[in-house]
Amino acid sequence: MGLVVQKYGGSSVADAEGIKRVAKRIVEAKKNGNQVVVVVSAMGDTTDELIDLAEQVSPMPSGREFDMLLTAGERISMALLAMAIKNLGHSAQSFTGSQAGVITDSVHNKARIIDVTPGRIRTALDEGNIAIVAGFQGVSQDKKDITTLGRGGSDTTAVALAAALDAEVCEIYTDVDGVFTADPRVVKKARKIDWISFEDMLELASSGSKVLLHRCVEYARRYNIPIHVRSSFSGLQGTWVSSESIEQGDQKVEQAIISGVAHDTSEAKITVVGVPDKPGEAAAIFRTIANAEINLDMVVQNVSAASTGLTDISFTLPKTEGRKAIDALERNRPGIGFDSLRYDDQIGKISLVGAGMKTNPGVTATFFEALSDAGVNIELISTSEIRISVVTRADDVPEAVRVVHTAFGLDSDSAEAVVYGGTGR
Ligand code: ASP
Ligand code: MG
Repeated sequence: MGLVVQKYGGSSVADAEGIKRVAKRIVEAKKNGNQVVVVVSAMGDTTDELIDLAEQVSPMPSGREFDMLLTAGERISMALLAMAIKNLGHSAQSFTGSQAGVITDSVHNKARIIDVTPGRIRTALDEGNIAIVAGFQGVSQDKKDITTLGRGGSDTTAVALAAALDAEVCEIYTDVDGVFTADPRVVKKARKIDWISFEDMLELASSGSKVLLHRCVEYARRYNIPIHVRSSFSGLQGTWVSSESIEQGDQKVEQAIISGVAHDTSEAKITVVGVPDKPGEAAAIFRTIANAEINLDMVVQNVSAASTGLTDISFTLPKTEGRKAIDALERNRPGIGFDSLRYDDQIGKISLVGAGMKTNPGVTATFFEALSDAGVNIELISTSEIRISVVTRADDVPEAVRVVHTAFGLDSDSAEAVVYGGTGR
């Protein structure tokens, strides 16, 4: 008998109908002879609504209470789901993250899982139950406080449980048919990917693709757990994310040269203007940013003007950290010695990802030509072995994604990608 972990996102359990539909699918998996563990997210936009509520009573809620509040969302969906399954004549038990043995560090709002001790889940399964686990939450090892794993963290819960229970597969059910070559909300002709390696999926996730979180893919790669991303609204095969390519018919699915195009409009750009071009300046700027616990993305230093000996340094960071970064730099301006700061949050990033670019010349040229033909101006460029990213005006992003997608022959000629649910919030 196989053990499968299934995860259902908020849009799959948005209302009572959704919960009943998902319950049927879970029962199917059980009837096929599997032991089934289900990880569930909060219904629809519940988490966002709880956050709105918290902001109304306090501008800076304490991390501990904030986590206690947010985990309520998953408690609601897990209990309702267990009830719906019982109503279909099968036995199910729901568990909070803490009861399921999800142990984390004590960083509220973005805790990391450090251990999973799923004793109670094992017992529930051995007694013939379907186990339903609240996603996105755990309990801190030291203080025994309730923690959350950061937005979208239910995927990580699912993979962590799959690893701890030695599951055959972790199925992530969502509101699209799988991982696409671009966001199907932007590119109607995006194509579903049958198989993608952990490496390419990690790059897509860190470049703004929202279908799977980076942490979840990282975890799956570390423990070599195959992920099957698929829709809870259709019966179609989705996308396999794994180290080994899958077989289709009697053939291996080939590694694509380009896996896809990701975009991200959640970042801002800060330019430090008039930095003396001498050793130690960049170090002082980025130590200031690091001390404020801000993660950067791209960094660019321009050549200095010979007449002044001054240069500009630009970097991108999450918009949500913009204020903090500006304040930290201003405070340290006397020590660093720059002229001024420029803050720009009207930027977007487009990234092309694919392990095949290592060995195929001309990928960069084609990428830039496509952008130039569409009249899109490039502001920053950064590359890794398997990724090229550019920063452009935010307004240009949708068109840029579409032209790059077409230029690399990724457009699908069959049916358009379907987005089944979700408000995209
Ligand atoms: N409910 C949480 C969120 O909306 C966790 C999740 O959906 O994975 O972020
Ligand atoms: Mg959610």
